[in-house]
Amino acid sequence: MPSVKMFTGVGIPLEMHKVRIVQKLRLIPIEDRLKAIAEAGNNTFLLQNRDVYLDMLTDSGVNAMSDHQLASMITADDSYAGSETFTRLADKLTEIFGTKYFLPAHQGRAAEHILAKTYVTEGSVVPTNFHFTTTKALITLYGGSVDEVLIDEGLKTTSTYPFKGNSDIAKLRTVIEKTGPKKIPFMRLEAGTNLVGGQPFSLENMKEVRKVCDEYGIMLVLDASLLQDNLYFIKIREESCKHKTIREITREIADLCDIIYFSARKLGAARGGGIITNSEKAYRNMRVLVPLFEGFLTYGGMSVREMEAMAVGLEETMDEEVINQGPQFIEYMVNELDRKGIPVVTPAGGLGCHLNAREFIPQVPQDQYPAGALGAAMYIAGAVRGMERGTLSEQRNPDGSERLAEMELLRLAMPRRVFTLSQVKYAIDRITWLYENRALVGGLKFVEEPPVLRFFFGRLEPVSDWQTKLAAKFRADLGDSL
Ligand SMILES: *Cc1c(COP(=O)(O)O)cnc(C)c1O
Repeated sequence: MPSVKMFTGVGIPLEMHKVRIVQKLRLIPIEDRLKAIAEAGNNTFLLQNRDVYLDMLTDSGVNAMSDHQLASMITADDSYAGSETFTRLADKLTEIFGTKYFLPAHQGRAAEHILAKTYVTEGSVVPTNFHFTTTKALITLYGGSVDEVLIDEGLKTTSTYPFKGNSDIAKLRTVIEKTGPKKIPFMRLEAGTNLVGGQPFSLENMKEVRKVCDEYGIMLVLDASLLQDNLYFIKIREESCKHKTIREITREIADLCDIIYFSARKLGAARGGGIITNSEKAYRNMRVLVPLFEGFLTYGGMSVREMEAMAVGLEETMDEEVINQGPQFIEYMVNELDRKGIPVVTPAGGLGCHLNAREFIPQVPQDQYPAGALGAAMYIAGAVRGMERGTLSEQRNPDGSERLAEMELLRLAMPRRVFTLSQVKYAIDRITWLYENRALVGGLKFVEEPPVLRFFFGRLEPVSDWQTKLAAKFRADLGDSL
């Protein structure tokens, strides 16, 4: 369903929920923001939440829960083994995905760890539409590598192509032929492709991927963490799916997979995660690792309250008026910025609005981390916290040289049902101000660089005094306004 048409003015996304619990926010003055970002080593991961007005870092574990989810948490059945809550969750997964087996894990990457440890060995190659940070790190940890087969259109920041998360079937064949199917433990398909801007794949493309996997006898593994946005986009953008229900589309997708794993910090608006499959062999292979890494098989590191909320959240995910909220707010934000000529990834995807840092601040070279610099500037401009998705999020090459990312994006995630339209309008206003003053933004350099997943803990500083100048300009333009 498109945004609601207004009798006066342009269409707006309409909240299909009302607010019943609120959390007080603080908006600190620009001097304090300047101090806070310096103390955080210019890394938005290291900011204190009390210094942040709009936390658009991630959609992970920060989506608003429904009244039914919260209520269900009280009735959760707390027991180490044989918990009724676990049975309810397992049954819900079976009902929705048609899969027999469920292995619980404490979050998405824990599921990835179990998969990688079970299937990846020295020299393994995992073809994927596009990698995700934790997936790639874990596959690499066990001696494997990922080989991306995303369609070329997927890496074009501005586009009208509706399914930029699609796999290029010819590229997939080339990877398989070049590597040999024996060295390929599985093909990994990621729904709502995170690192290219929350872009979906189409059901038709997924069917083609499945066909190739069948031809070579390769397992198809779905990362369903961002499935809910992908489902919505399939429903509204894929002609042949217009008349299908979200439930029917979900089932069709699940039937194409050998293994599905997910982060329930996103899918199901709860916490936790897990792996589901119909293959008894895959289940048995992976099962041994759950008690070792996660916890007993009936909780896998999750609290029963989380599991109960997940079961309800998964059911709510089957409701189009629930899952359209994220994409519609994102579309509004992306279209407003695009209209002003501000470089954003188009078409609007799920997950959030992505600023294209390379075009936003072309004066900052890639080895000075433009997306990271834009993240620091965005915090200074509006106490809005985004996440760098560019070269900083990459790992250096074995010889120590920088691995320059294909895209330099600042992700402004839209936690689902959390922000009001005025807050989104505020973010748009501060981005617009920053864009007017983009010439003032400079680069960053590392002062402390961890060897693995450096974007989480790394500390950086500005290459010049550009941040002080940016703050002075803000004061000159907006006076005493926060
Ligand atoms: C978030 C995410 C993960 C990891 O999930 P966590 O629960 O954060 O560990 C894996 N894959 C994708 C596509 C994700 O977006």
